[in-house]
Amino acid sequence: MISKKLSGAEIRQGFIDFFVARGHTFVPSSSLVPGGDQTLLFTNAGMVQFKDVFLGTDKRPYTRAANSQKCMRVAGKHNDLEDVGRDDTHHTFFEMLGNWSFGDYYKKEAIAWAWELLTEVWGLEKQRLWATCFKDEKGEIPTDDEAAEHWCAQPGFDPSHVLFFGRKDNFWEMADTGPCGPCSEIHYDRGPEYCDKRDVPGHICRVNGGCQRFLELWNLVFIQYNRSGPATLEPLPAKHVDTGMGLERIVSILQNTPSNYKTDLLFPLMRAVQQMTGDSDEQMEANLTPYRVIADHTRAATFLIADGVVPGNIGRNYVCRMIIRRAARFGSKLGLHEPFLARVAEEVIANYGDFYPELVRNRSVILTNLTNEEERFARTVESGVAKLENLLERLSASGQRVLPGEQAFDLYATYGLPLEITRDIAREQNLEVDEDGFRQAMEKHRLVSGAGEAFGPLGGEDVEVYRSLLAELQAQGKLGSEGVAYNPYEWLEVEEPILALVANGQCVSSAKPGQTVEVLLPRTGFYVEAGGQVSDTGVIVSVTEPRWEIRVRDMRKPAAGVIVHVGEVVRGEPRVGDMAIAAVDAQRRQDIMRNHTATHLLHAELRAVLGEHARQAGSLVAPDHLRFDFTHPRALTPEELEQIENGVNRAILGNYRLNIQYKPLQQAIQEGAIALFGEKYADTVRNITIGEPETFSNELCGGTHVDETGDIGLFLIISEGSAAAGIRRIEAVTGRGAYELVRKRFRLLQQAANLLETTPEELPQRLENALEALAQARKQIADLRRKQSQEAFQKTLENITAVAGVPVLAIQVAEADADTLRSLSDLFYQRYPSGVVVLASVDEVGKPVVIARLSEDLVKRGLNAVELVKHVAAFLGGGGGGRPTLAQAGGKEAGRLSEALASVPNWVSDKLAKSE
Ligand SMILES: [Zn+2]
Ligand SMILES: [Zn+2]
Repeated sequence: MISKKLSGAEIRQGFIDFFVARGHTFVPSSSLVPGGDQTLLFTNAGMVQFKDVFLGTDKRPYTRAANSQKCMRVAGKHNDLEDVGRDDTHHTFFEMLGNWSFGDYYKKEAIAWAWELLTEVWGLEKQRLWATCFKDEKGEIPTDDEAAEHWCAQPGFDPSHVLFFGRKDNFWEMADTGPCGPCSEIHYDRGPEYCDKRDVPGHICRVNGGCQRFLELWNLVFIQYNRSGPATLEPLPAKHVDTGMGLERIVSILQNTPSNYKTDLLFPLMRAVQQMTGDSDEQMEANLTPYRVIADHTRAATFLIADGVVPGNIGRNYVCRMIIRRAARFGSKLGLHEPFLARVAEEVIANYGDFYPELVRNRSVILTNLTNEEERFARTVESGVAKLENLLERLSASGQRVLPGEQAFDLYATYGLPLEITRDIAREQNLEVDEDGFRQAMEKHRLVSGAGEAFGPLGGEDVEVYRSLLAELQAQGKLGSEGVAYNPYEWLEVEEPILALVANGQCVSSAKPGQTVEVLLPRTGFYVEAGGQVSDTGVIVSVTEPRWEIRVRDMRKPAAGVIVHVGEVVRGEPRVGDMAIAAVDAQRRQDIMRNHTATHLLHAELRAVLGEHARQAGSLVAPDHLRFDFTHPRALTPEELEQIENGVNRAILGNYRLNIQYKPLQQAIQEGAIALFGEKYADTVRNITIGEPETFSNELCGGTHVDETGDIGLFLIISEGSAAAGIRRIEAVTGRGAYELVRKRFRLLQQAANLLETTPEELPQRLENALEALAQARKQIADLRRKQSQEAFQKTLENITAVAGVPVLAIQVAEADADTLRSLSDLFYQRYPSGVVVLASVDEVGKPVVIARLSEDLVKRGLNAVELVKHVAAFLGGGGGGRPTLAQAGGKEAGRLSEALASVPNWVSDKLAKSE
């Protein structure tokens, strides 16, 4: 049927080429970390990067798009983790091929092209293809006859192969409200031999029948409604198409393999594992699950790390850690006890690097992170698993079946055993884990440790208010088609009428003093937080009487084309229509610009000093400081930090002009510009380069910058530390902040010099002298004290009680350590060559220390210093040991010390009595 077996890469490229030839723009896959979407852990479908286009909060320069999107489904609603490895079709990471129409073509073209690609280009047998269309089981939403008719019109399509299904299978909704519409799925009949449910009573072998014979290949979603309530659907003015086809599945069909894992996308990874285990093909075949888990998880971890998600304790980082550790554990089931995942990852990079160049760029970061994480896990896994097995044993013995979540969390916190592994092991023994309890314990721990909430809920605000406001203002001609004009680079002050005021999500005509209000002007130069740079603050004041003033503390972009100034009315009553002057706090902005340009210089210097792997992993550009997170496996040395700080200051003193150009994204990337993961870029980007004739900084950035690097003034690193595993954080100050810091340090230095009555230059020598003098004085005091206590002790010795003729002394000595006690006991023996002495003291933390000594002749009479010291220590909750003539003990509680010492004479007389 298929003339030439296509490779997975050729199939991916073939899909894209097919749609590009039909007017689609190829849009590279967005990061696995969804840009700006806090509700989503990972990008889990091709449409994620286009969500705001469907919601109407953003626009793109194209109306047709095609791509292959990196996706992860490992947590939340779409959680296939437990099936991964057990069967042929589930994956944590996968690729989704898709074509989109944004208000452009619709069902007719989407269906015709899908048919053409599958049957003409890829040569699938027409008789094996089936199409499902939507028919509402409740009869509320119209049946999608339109799609069914288009299917029947395709050349060679069997009209009996159109089937209708209800809401669950064939109606797509983004959420409870918002864009939605019917979908049409293409299913492929692999033949009756693929049915895996033949023996299941009542199984009907058919499309959507749940067996492996019919595979859903491609889902075409037709977005034609907006759902505003449970029972209200409004037709959309512009209809969209969103399609998705899992790459692994179409490749397995075109390569005619029974399993996704046997395609050239995944099989080479299993081969790499096989080379390490030395298993024969038969052995591997008999033990497929670990092979499949390792292939799947390593591929996922490789892509995650390339997108900046390194192993860690919460959120996405936890997922990365969990899949690496799970793969490592399955490796140990195959006898792989040394780190081995880097070798598998090499295969992933070789196999996928051409299409996803980020894998090649981050090769060393990927390999080191994998190996480091395997090593971290190896250090504790055995004790963790042993502990878990004990717990499970006790659980079964007590007739229970569910391991408490607290205990599962303890295993994670103490031994790094992720919940998923604990669950794997429990399931192997037919036991369960309380997963909600685990999450609660983790959440509690996270809040206690101050890590905050990683994934809060979406603001839930009503975009509609702003969208209808925008439409109204556009209809009145007060705003252009682009909405509010925005130029933070030039408009630090604008004079404009207030177009709208929004308070508590409602449009209002005026606002009162003390009220928080959002102000919409036709244009603004206030920067809106983006790329790590914080929003501008400033004031909006009336131009004419009556006077009013609003302090702007934040900026927001609640919908496409809408920018509002968020502030508090501090004076008067602003009204819609009033003429106003909006002025950015210029000094604060200047501070921010210094820090932003310095961030670019720092980034460039880090790469120059540490290597290309030092990539931005997060940044904050605030007025008072800058914070820069980057991937690097270990702490920076003082020399490296000095070199970096030096390099940035050299670039500042070079006083280079910043070159800012707008150019096409692809051109900028080709010219070496650094694009950041998790950021969304338009097709035309703002490219900032620094340095002539040689460019040493080249970034895509929408932020505001100084004109020349000399404007930064001075750059000082104030701290370097760890931000997460594999991520370092540098904080620094520039300009006024750096000057403040230097001035403060000078003042402290002068104060210290004044205290020592010297100059700052002489200070270190003076300080050294003073510390030496202090040490000598301390030694003298200690000597005097010892002399004093010896003298006091000599006095004590003049008055000793005897027990059955044997001198016995048992006393507490103030402020003495074990050595002092021992030297005091020498004094006792100089005076009483035959006798018993017990000396005790209490150290600084309140713990008692005891020494006991007795003379040789008494040892001969059956007395023993070890027994004696143990007798005393028993009162103090402690223990001790030593020789028959000299023993030492420690204790926990000093409270019973006098009681313990008072018992010594009795102990001696008892022993002597027994020896008679
Ligand atoms: Zn079947
Ligand atoms: Zn920037």
